[in-house]
Amino acid sequence: MKPAPFRMYAPHTVAQAVATLAALEAEGQHAKVLAGGQSLVPVLAMRLAEPGHLVDINGVAGLDAIDVSSAGVRVGALVRHAELLRHAEANRVQPLLSQALNLVAHATIRNRGTTVGSLAHADPSGEMTAVLVLTGGSVTAVSVRGEREIPAAEFFVGPLESSLAADELALSAFFPAAPAGAGTAFVEMARRHGDYALSGVGAVVIPGPSRDEGAPTISVSCGFLSVSETPLVLDLSDAWAAGEDSVMAVVRAAIDPQDDIHASADYRRHITGILAVRAIREALARVREEQAA
Ligand SMILES: Cc1cc2nc3c(=O)[nH]c(=O)nc-3n(C[C@H](O)[C@H](O)[C@H](O)COP(=O)(O)OP(=O)(O)OC[C@H]3O[C@@H](n4cnc5c(N)ncnc54)[C@H](O)[C@@H]3O)c2cc1C
Repeated sequence: MKPAPFRMYAPHTVAQAVATLAALEAEGQHAKVLAGGQSLVPVLAMRLAEPGHLVDINGVAGLDAIDVSSAGVRVGALVRHAELLRHAEANRVQPLLSQALNLVAHATIRNRGTTVGSLAHADPSGEMTAVLVLTGGSVTAVSVRGEREIPAAEFFVGPLESSLAADELALSAFFPAAPAGAGTAFVEMARRHGDYALSGVGAVVIPGPSRDEGAPTISVSCGFLSVSETPLVLDLSDAWAAGEDSVMAVVRAAIDPQDDIHASADYRRHITGILAVRAIREALARVREEQAA
């Protein structure tokens, strides 16, 4: 199939891009931002969406920066998955980035698809959506009304639905640094490498100072993809202290996977419990490696 006809706009500045979006919104027109096109173009080609206007941001200056500080990693709207994956400093500050990006689609898609675009697309099967919520990150949005920072917990409102307004551009995403001494891991199961995952889990394990009055000595949190309408984060510290069976039980009770042609909900529920334990074990092994070094 071919896309329905649309009009293309090629702004060179953020101001031009948001002015175009605002003008189209004021006229009641359906417009979409075009970034890497790896999700939008197939949707257009299958006529699952028929926006009359595409605002192509690929020529907008200043959106391709990766800024790394001790606080975290800020990723501009035109940073391709592959660029972020290759950025050694960004991945030193927040290792979940490369651990998850390695599992995003295939190299050709990562060369073109943008990390911020995958957040704006808000697919609960997208690895980076889970990383954003797990790290407690945020998205900076801009419109003619100015900029606003949207915390990850408020950014994803439903499958393929973010809290971005129709006339807003996602300018950048911020992924906070991994806490000192933390171990992280990202694991998933897909039918073929590069496919969207049937289920995926990211883990952050932070060793605590000492055991007091039965409190868990380590903090364990996991982010999940493909098993709920929006990416989910669970604090599994108590469950981990109680044992791996407890982690699996808590995870399976908390998620809400769906049946589809790739796997049943029951299968997804089952493997997600196992993947959570696997991710925590891997993250913990990294903590121990770090401590031993
Ligand atoms: C075969 C295949 C396999 C894939 N597998 C995976 C996978 O395993 N995991 C995964 O996470 N992804 C996967 N993807 C999707 C890929 O990661 C996309 O790159 C990503 O989801 C969207 O990024 P994009 O830059 O291509 O966005 P686009 O396709 O250009 O846009 C996607 C949506 O986001 C909006 N948008 C994009 N950027 C902005 C912005 N700055 N501000 C406001 N709105 C914006 C667009 O309007 C559109 O609605 C796959 C894609 C394909 C084709």
